[in-house]
Amino acid sequence: GGGRTPWRGWRGRSVAAATAGMPDFEEMTRQARQGRRSNREVTCGPATYQVTVGPRFDEGGEVVGTTGCAIDVSELRSLKTDLAVRQEQLRLLVDTALDAVITCDINSVILEWNNEAAGLFGWTREEAVGRKLFETIIPEDLRAAHLAGMRRFLEVEEGPVLGRRIEIEAVDRSGRRFPIELGINPIPTSHGPVFSAFLRDITERVDQEQRLIGSEYRLRGALDAMEAGTWDYRLGPDGSLIEATVDDRVRELLEDDADVLPPGRDSILEVDRASVADAWNAHLEGLTPRFSVEYRIHGDSEDVRWRRELGMCVFDATDTEQEFAGQVRQPFRVIGVVTDVTPSKAMESSLQDARKLEVAGQIASQFAHDLNNVLTAISGHISLLELDKLSERARGSVEVIKDAVARGGALTRNMLQMGRPVRGRRSEVDVPRLLEHTLRLSRAILGQDIHLDTRIADYVPCVYLDENQLQQAILNLLINARDAMAGKGTITVSAEEMDSTEGSMVLIEVVDDGPGMSPEVLSKVTRPFFTTKGSKGTGLGLATIDRLVKSEEGRLEIKSVLGSGTRVGIVLPAGRVVSSTGGVSESDPIRRVMVVEDHPLLRPMLTEALANAGCATQPCPDGESALREVDDFEPDLVVLDVNLPGQSGDLLALSIRRKIGRDVPVLFVTGNQDFELPDLPAVDLIQKPFELLDFIRRVNDFSIE
Ligand code: ADP
Ligand code: MG
Repeated sequence: GGGRTPWRGWRGRSVAAATAGMPDFEEMTRQARQGRRSNREVTCGPATYQVTVGPRFDEGGEVVGTTGCAIDVSELRSLKTDLAVRQEQLRLLVDTALDAVITCDINSVILEWNNEAAGLFGWTREEAVGRKLFETIIPEDLRAAHLAGMRRFLEVEEGPVLGRRIEIEAVDRSGRRFPIELGINPIPTSHGPVFSAFLRDITERVDQEQRLIGSEYRLRGALDAMEAGTWDYRLGPDGSLIEATVDDRVRELLEDDADVLPPGRDSILEVDRASVADAWNAHLEGLTPRFSVEYRIHGDSEDVRWRRELGMCVFDATDTEQEFAGQVRQPFRVIGVVTDVTPSKAMESSLQDARKLEVAGQIASQFAHDLNNVLTAISGHISLLELDKLSERARGSVEVIKDAVARGGALTRNMLQMGRPVRGRRSEVDVPRLLEHTLRLSRAILGQDIHLDTRIADYVPCVYLDENQLQQAILNLLINARDAMAGKGTITVSAEEMDSTEGSMVLIEVVDDGPGMSPEVLSKVTRPFFTTKGSKGTGLGLATIDRLVKSEEGRLEIKSVLGSGTRVGIVLPAGRVVSSTGGVSESDPIRRVMVVEDHPLLRPMLTEALANAGCATQPCPDGESALREVDDFEPDLVVLDVNLPGQSGDLLALSIRRKIGRDVPVLFVTGNQDFELPDLPAVDLIQKPFELLDFIRRVNDFSIE
């Protein structure tokens, strides 16, 4: 090394001998022999030296000696402007640097090439110095840019890569390309500027980054697919929020509350706040594996929105150490996701509604069942009462009672149908005939001041469904119209064939000129139990019709404008054509009727009504007595209650027919909607409750063969 006097005496001696007794040197030499380079400040006499000692290698890489360098830095301090010293220092720095350091001149000729550069690029110092940069480490496609950069520097003394850290690709001697981090500084010298570059292989870091980018990308994709937002809350030791990092979707889902810990969010509905706070605290206290909660927030208008939130505490390494030290871990960050679960909640609640409705329906139908028998008895006895001579006042009361029973009957029928799937006895229904019959029945219900207009097309195909149910539906529409018009106005009932894409359909329409409905009401009318009539309405009329027509592959069309009336159309698929002469019987009327009914109120009532209609009757309280009497009585018709104690009606019918050896007609009476008419000749079914007149009509529908 250079410098002045103190080293002079060393000349000709071995380093070991010269530095004997200087512990710093001894230590550095020892390390150099082991292949390690070291660098420290050594004080020697009045001067301070920056000393570097390193190993010297032979061809095979074996350590064969040491090389050293000492710079008198005491002099450096006093002679800061001495360029030679500065260059020396630079050399020192360069050689001991962990980065590859390369110096080149303005023509790209390499001037310096340190050990690390040799290791990194595979060119030794001797090979590299004197070559051009782009002949060694600059990939071919970047050479033009490199030269342009140099030229630019010459012109304006600045360049895009100077004085900054940039990431770029380099090649080594074998042609392998790899990413490096590069810092270049121009150093002015008397011969023009030189450039010193510090380079570092960042392959590993870039790989890791790319892996991270890959997993981040996947994670983002998954979160996007879930439409989930993510938040990251950093907490203080007391659990308060120090820093919130949230993404755009969290902002969208939680708005201003995105930067607030879940328990403190104002947008959460009052009723849900406690459960959110409980879930949060339980998780922070380590009682639950994750923070998991669903809650409602106030929406834009009146509506509420549902949010689902899942989160988890994360701990950093020092916390684990604390845990080892027996300390309680403090949550450091909580990371979580938020999703909008409003649609699935809506689905859930409508399912729940449907389930509730089903239960309500079952209860209603049970109740209706019991009520049926009572109503049937009342209406039967009223009919009997009417046969007597009554006072004017009594007659008035009878009318009121009849009306009430009719309403009650409609109610129980609706209730029965609500509780069970629609199941009726389908047959070909002649629509004009049914309408005629139904309208005649309805005159009494509609009252004097309602004008009833009918427009039945010349030809209407028949429809195929349960006639009673269709009649009930039409009656319900008429009653709705009457209710809406407050007893005054015109109702038009029409029926016609309609061609549509589904094929031939039959449209039955009930049109009124009443007040109509608001769109709000209109949108809800087919909902079960929706009524605007308070306790007077059941809200089951249109719901039942809707169910009926849908189960028959038809539809209900309701059009209404406030102030200009309502138009309700029942659209049903057309069935086979019935001949207009059908249903007329030439045979003798029924004269002898056996009534098998266990109900103590109904049995006498039915027999009395039949007797009034001119029939001979034989009442039987059970199947046993019926079988006993049937031979002697020789009935034209058996009226048979389906639910006799200990015996089913259809089996009894078979026994009776076997006993008398002929297919005597049977009219089943039932309050049970599930009863299906057995597939037997000459049978019919009448549902309780029924009007006695209807009952008699059904009896007369039979004829003796
Ligand atoms: P209810 O008659 O027991 O109220 P419905 O299901 O038959 O039940 O009818 C539901 C509601 O639809 C009624 O309460 C009424 O508000 C409305 N509505 C039905 N028919 C008409 C009509 N013809 N004109 C005006 N509103 C009607
Ligand atoms: Mg109604």
